[in-house]
Amino acid sequence: MILTDVTLRDGLQAEAKTVSLQHKLELLQLLAQCQFNRLEITSFVNPKWVPQLSDSEQLCEAWFKKTHSQETMAFVPNAKGCERLLRFPIPWISCFVAASATFNQKNVNSSIDDTLKEVASITATAKAKGRKVRLYLSTVWGCPYEGEVSPAFLESLFEKISKIDVQELALSDTIGVATPDTVKKVLSLVSRYVPIAKIALHLHNTYGFALANIQAGYEMGVRSFDGSLGGIGGCPYAKGATGNVASEDIRYLLLRQNLISSFPKKEIEATLKFLREEAGLILNSSLSKILEKGGSWYGIQ
Ligand code: MG
Repeated sequence: MILTDVTLRDGLQAEAKTVSLQHKLELLQLLAQCQFNRLEITSFVNPKWVPQLSDSEQLCEAWFKKTHSQETMAFVPNAKGCERLLRFPIPWISCFVAASATFNQKNVNSSIDDTLKEVASITATAKAKGRKVRLYLSTVWGCPYEGEVSPAFLESLFEKISKIDVQELALSDTIGVATPDTVKKVLSLVSRYVPIAKIALHLHNTYGFALANIQAGYEMGVRSFDGSLGGIGGCPYAKGATGNVASEDIRYLLLRQNLISSFPKKEIEATLKFLREEAGLILNSSLSKILEKGGSWYGIQ
């Protein structure tokens, strides 16, 4: 199982409340104790677009002064961002394309085909530098501007993506509209072009279906899932889309079915407490709400 926590990137980028560099570093320290397989720690985007993450260089300079065993990933929107990332020992480079032309245009001001050319260029650079690439494919299950994405269009995209040598394809439900049956349909479709072992699910919980969708993905053979602590985040380009599915709720779901064995309770509790009390964020996960009300998590020592 590969559990990726995206609190510091996807989580924070949609939060209206500014989180200071010092708080981000403390959060990173806490997250690194939570035994996630991978942490997405920041984004090398133009600060004008995402002011919340304009301190990516400072964060990385401070963090990588020491060596860490924690595997990391950071987001880049283009080749320029990739050059900025390569100054740091970050093994995973994440980049983006959308399954909707309008969403792609609004997000990176480019057509899908031109963005895929950029992804291919980033992938070639990454390979030459010994780094790995995750491609987020956004709006797979629905777009805030165009609605449903047709299976034929998705298939044509999967075919194009299969020709680029990325190590992981994160199918993303950007506005949280997938249901377990549509998760299964998309996974059947993608498996004709990209092996399921390379697929990650990046789901949002807008309508409360994310955990059911993760279960559906698991049953279809997916073993890589994303979440953010406390379910923070959303999508700045999709009003009303709530946060990522919560990392701790995913882990609890998997733990209760004996699909994973590790659940670092104290460390997760401490990180949730920090997010709420120090960083001042509103948390939305089931486990964080129980904790906030003074309850205990059933079945966890
Ligand atoms: Mg997201």
